[in-house]
Amino acid sequence: MPAKGVTLASTADVVVAGGGVIGTAIAWRAAAAGLDVILVDPDRGDAASLVAAGMLAPASESLFGEEALLALNQLAASRFAALVTELERAAGQPVGLRREGTLAVAYDTGDQAALARLTAFRRSLGLDAEELDGRSCRELEPFLGPDVRGGCLFAGDWSVDNRRYVAALRQAARAAGVRTVTGWVAAVRVQDGRTAGVRLASGGTDGAIRIDADEIEAGTVVIAAGTASAGIAGLPAPLRGAVRPVKGQLLRLRHPAGLPPVLGRTVRALVRGGDVYLVPRADGEIVLGATSEERGPDRTVTAGAVHDLLHDAMSVLPVVTEMILAETAAGLRPATPDNGPIVGATDTAGLLVATGHYRNGILLSGLTADAVLALLTGQRPAPEWEPFSPGRFATAAVS
Ligand SMILES: Cc1cc2nc3c(=O)[nH]c(=O)nc-3n(C[C@H](O)[C@H](O)[C@H](O)COP(=O)(O)OP(=O)(O)OC[C@H]3O[C@@H](n4cnc5c(N)ncnc54)[C@H](O)[C@@H]3O)c2cc1C
Repeated sequence: MPAKGVTLASTADVVVAGGGVIGTAIAWRAAAAGLDVILVDPDRGDAASLVAAGMLAPASESLFGEEALLALNQLAASRFAALVTELERAAGQPVGLRREGTLAVAYDTGDQAALARLTAFRRSLGLDAEELDGRSCRELEPFLGPDVRGGCLFAGDWSVDNRRYVAALRQAARAAGVRTVTGWVAAVRVQDGRTAGVRLASGGTDGAIRIDADEIEAGTVVIAAGTASAGIAGLPAPLRGAVRPVKGQLLRLRHPAGLPPVLGRTVRALVRGGDVYLVPRADGEIVLGATSEERGPDRTVTAGAVHDLLHDAMSVLPVVTEMILAETAAGLRPATPDNGPIVGATDTAGLLVATGHYRNGILLSGLTADAVLALLTGQRPAPEWEPFSPGRFATAAVS
């Protein structure tokens, strides 16, 4: 972030509202393509992007009825390795991409039946899924407990260290010339029916930088403020109603001295009907998550969630009891009625939206930036984006 007191010119080609993984990826891509970009973010550390687990999991995240989202997620996954190569080069820092795949396991007979149903569904969609008995699961992951009954290996479901990834995006954006303003976008300014820029919330915060005015002029504005997108005036009403927060609590564990790495790949477990995942990082951290709660903007961590996550994790990976509980966190996933993102142009010329990425924002960040860059430069985004345009909610509201 620029230091306090720095003055920025208050005009740009593009203003991006929101500096989570989505807004930062867009800002980087747009600036690297030669556009003059200002990114506005309050720098509050409240981004879901910094809480997330970083799974890149089109197959093991796919659910009944979400086939269009699966196609989008698969496209994003197929491009992720190339994106990481480009990003690490641009930022000069690693992002912790892991390609060992994901092992989904089942704890009791009910869980085994549920996993078998999901696996059959995923296979029917052509997804790569190798079924394993309990013993084969333990050969892959020797610390799994004796009660694990069986599982399924999704070799194409990788992970990335989301915090390193966001840090690299920020560095790459800076290097590409993105200017960052610490503050809030209060409203989109519209003149003669087209976007003219943004109005910033007055007051600012300690550490906020000074700009020439309370407004930034720009012919294009991209709203990418996660769950807070709905609070920015000027976003069409049907879209404001389409984004809601879904709370996720998760834990970060670390290996104590002397304990060897306990996981070689991501493990997702069905445990007595519940769902828990453990995502290992190269530095020994394990991310254990996550709850899914409809509680509005609440980001508190509860004792019950910590208990349940640890209890379920220990059922399949008993060695968790020896690990250090390093951090608890809660974040707000930007969810939509059909669980798909909202990416594209609105009816107001020059106003674009990129939000609603729900459970897949890390995975979809690069692909979202590609789609927005296509729109900014007069190209068509990939056809997989068609079901996820803002227009689907506007249409629904009219009808
Ligand atoms: C527990 C949990 C686990 C998850 N695990 C995964 C996973 O494994 N894989 C995956 O792909 N996804 C995962 N996700 C989902 C992913 O984190 C989100 O989809 C993604 O982070 C959304 O990014 P975003 O940039 O839209 O929003 P955010 O990351 O929330 O960023 C929004 C930013 O906008 C800022 N802002 C707010 N209001 C304004 C304003 N008025 N003006 C300017 N800026 C503003 C905020 O301060 C924030 O910095 C997980 C999410 C959670 C909560």
